[in-house]
Amino acid sequence: MTRISHWIDGKPSLGVAERTGDVYDPATGEVTGIVDYASAADVDEAVAAAKRAFPAWRKASLAARTSVLFKFRDLLAAHRDDVAAIITAEHGKVLDDAAGEVQRALESVEFACGLPTAVRGGFSMNASTAVDVHSVREPLGVVGVISPFNFPAMVPLWFLPNAIATGNTVVLKPSEKDPSASIYLAELWARAGLPDGVLNVVHGDKVAVDALLEHPDVKAISFVGSTPVARYIYETGTSHGKRVQALGGAKNHMVVLPDADLDVAADAAVSAGFGSAGERCMAISVVVAVDPIGDELIAKITERMAKLKIGDGRRGCDMGPLVTAAHRDKVASYVESGVAEGAELVVDGRGGPVDGAAGGFWLNPTLFDKVGPQMKIYTDEVFGPVLSVVRAGSYDDAIKLVNDNPYGNGTAVFTRDGGAARRYTDDVEVGMVGVNVPIPVPVGYYSFGGWKDSLFGDAHAYGPEGVQFFTRAKVVTSRWPDPATSSVNLGFPRNE
Ligand code: NAD
Repeated sequence: MTRISHWIDGKPSLGVAERTGDVYDPATGEVTGIVDYASAADVDEAVAAAKRAFPAWRKASLAARTSVLFKFRDLLAAHRDDVAAIITAEHGKVLDDAAGEVQRALESVEFACGLPTAVRGGFSMNASTAVDVHSVREPLGVVGVISPFNFPAMVPLWFLPNAIATGNTVVLKPSEKDPSASIYLAELWARAGLPDGVLNVVHGDKVAVDALLEHPDVKAISFVGSTPVARYIYETGTSHGKRVQALGGAKNHMVVLPDADLDVAADAAVSAGFGSAGERCMAISVVVAVDPIGDELIAKITERMAKLKIGDGRRGCDMGPLVTAAHRDKVASYVESGVAEGAELVVDGRGGPVDGAAGGFWLNPTLFDKVGPQMKIYTDEVFGPVLSVVRAGSYDDAIKLVNDNPYGNGTAVFTRDGGAARRYTDDVEVGMVGVNVPIPVPVGYYSFGGWKDSLFGDAHAYGPEGVQFFTRAKVVTSRWPDPATSSVNLGFPRNE
């Protein structure tokens, strides 16, 4: 049994934890680790270490900071298989998918390697006679990052590279369900030369989160998780005077227009619906089939689902287990509710064949047709391998459905008509849109974020908006007057 403890001031923190939690291998159902839950005092210790590290790190040259980033990038790339194995062991996603997560994380690190360009300020000579103005962006201080279970390496790395490269120091609170990846990453950062205290990791639950939200020395919070918690984080953090970006849940619609290539659309729906067992904030959970292609599309999706191999992520399967037994049971209860509310259960994933231990947290891919917008499987974020098909009579019905949804994280349109695609991308009220791309996660030099209930705050994650979030602007006006020309003048300074 592994003990997973905090990482404070450049080393594991081995004190006695008052509370702990079990960490499972979802493919076997066995407890493989015990994770310490931080108390408010543990969070204080981590914040104090980050605060001590801030003055020197803030003053470290851009060259010194980015040199750590480059080394971390190389270490992460060299150890991507190790990180993927750790993710699979605690999250359950298949190894290839976990390696894909690390690959996308590398993009954020690579963006931050170019930080000197991103934080370059402006300079205006002679803004007024013999007066020059320049702007700089400075770090905030100690920042908190709180991440969800579904991307235990990538989501922390949406924030750490920019936060660290811009001169902040960080306390990361990863998900207690799969905490080991964060510690492995902290070790890699240390090996890359990051000074002690610049990155600290505390494990735990609401106690640790609340301690970060209320801590006067924490200046900003980046959060990713479910919508109710994101709303709470935003409201509590901002009421304590912090800058907050809180990314929430999703219900991503894939609209298939009648002219779409239905084989391409079916491949995409199955890949984006069941990849990572549907536990992705950019998973497709609703396919909107615009008449008259519904029956044909469902036949093609069903055909593909029958070929998926479900099982232990280390055995070359397509889809692994869900993260915990409780989450699997919750998702399975949505299957029951869909049946009870009158949706047509086309493929029932309960009790399907599995290449894995009997105790694993299994639920095989499930498909519903004729789902109505009032049904719980439609209104709730199910976050599992349950794909709903909603039939729409027209383009207008489809776009209304998507725009009436309270979430606005991702969406995709499938069509061969450029004009229709252009119209959809313009009409849709969603932050990230794909045209024949089912999971339109922006590349690392754009920024990631949804609209409406999928994001609280005004800054998206990583890329240029991440740099803005982790820095504040300072504008300096200077002149070097000849003392002989100096005089008293009580008028408001004018630019002449
Ligand atoms: P979650 O909201 O349960 O937990 C997220 C984090 O908040 C964890 O670190 C957890 O310990 C903490 N937490 C949980 N309950 C809390 C509470 N009551 N008070 C304070 N802190 C609390 O989310 P999860 O189940 O770990 O992750 C899945 C969710 O995350 C899904 O809703 C998914 O859509 C969302 N997500 C969103 C994005 C995005 O970019 N928008 C990305 C990934 C995941």
